[in-house]
Amino acid sequence: MAELEQDLKAIKMTDMTTMNQTAQPAIRLQPGAAPVACVDIGGTKVAVSVADGHGVRGHIAEPTAKQGANGALAEQIIRLIGQSSAAAGVAPGQLAAVGVSSCGPFVLRDGLVELAAPNICGGLAGKARGLPNDWSTALLEAPLRAAFANVRVENDGIGALEAERRWGALQVNGQPMAHCAYVTWSTGVGVGLCVDGRILRGKNGNAGHAGHMFVSDNNDALCGCGNIGDVEGLVAGNAIPRRFGAQGYTDSAMLLIAAKSGDAKASAIVDDLCRVMGRTLYNLVVTLDLQRISIGGSVFWHHRELLLPKLQSQLRGKLAALTDGVELVPAGLGEKVGDFGALALVS
Ligand SMILES: [Zn+2]
Repeated sequence: MAELEQDLKAIKMTDMTTMNQTAQPAIRLQPGAAPVACVDIGGTKVAVSVADGHGVRGHIAEPTAKQGANGALAEQIIRLIGQSSAAAGVAPGQLAAVGVSSCGPFVLRDGLVELAAPNICGGLAGKARGLPNDWSTALLEAPLRAAFANVRVENDGIGALEAERRWGALQVNGQPMAHCAYVTWSTGVGVGLCVDGRILRGKNGNAGHAGHMFVSDNNDALCGCGNIGDVEGLVAGNAIPRRFGAQGYTDSAMLLIAAKSGDAKASAIVDDLCRVMGRTLYNLVVTLDLQRISIGGSVFWHHRELLLPKLQSQLRGKLAALTDGVELVPAGLGEKVGDFGALALVS
């Protein structure tokens, strides 16, 4: 690993000076560096790529495995690593490390991570949630360690935070920020937190599951975790069809496009979603004294011009001693933050 770390310290960045919200940086390892696999596990899809001196390559994605036995997801990942490696022209045995950036929460069994993820494991919230399994956990780290020599698994909020601090929007003068967070607003809602330059992990690596905080008395929204009316249950991408499908908004894109085009009913719903999400961000800022939060995830990213000002307005003017100068910004790595989050874990 020492040699690998040495190689990866020399990761080259290009295009940073011209980077904007749509052009992401090219990140590659030093020429000749041993390849690593990057695995991004979300509630909707699993994406795998391989990074080496030629860049991040062999990207392959599939819907997250949710059927059969609870080892299905790990089997899918091992298969996708094989396919991604083949696409990149790398033999799986050449992989120096596998970085896994995954939705959580994690539970530890014999010290190894299993997922108790609300959007994957149907046994958590029960049949009402509609997932096609009754898993209480999905196996992850044990099968991967049986297949690969070096494996690092982290909460995807932490992976994305590390990537944003190294290559994205959470830097000052090219250095990682000390007091910051990354928030994803996607299928679920996830957070990575950094205070005093230290990334917060907690007892099981679950620090940052702020999507399961309560900031509203609303009780019409079942979260995959079993809570009713927590943040994720109210605003996550998969909450939109469950809450508003009967009103004609069968997914988050349909709702947000309607709001953007002036649909008053959709606009009122989006304002309410942003009030919930904005309160969440405010709570993080005042609890941890953060300087900047970068925001990504498919729900936010594709509609950031509409959503960002609404989120910012939930901080503005509240408790100035803690919120003055605090910045909410779009993720510097954009839609690539998941891939780079996994890479940041093994570099
Ligand atoms: Zn929840």
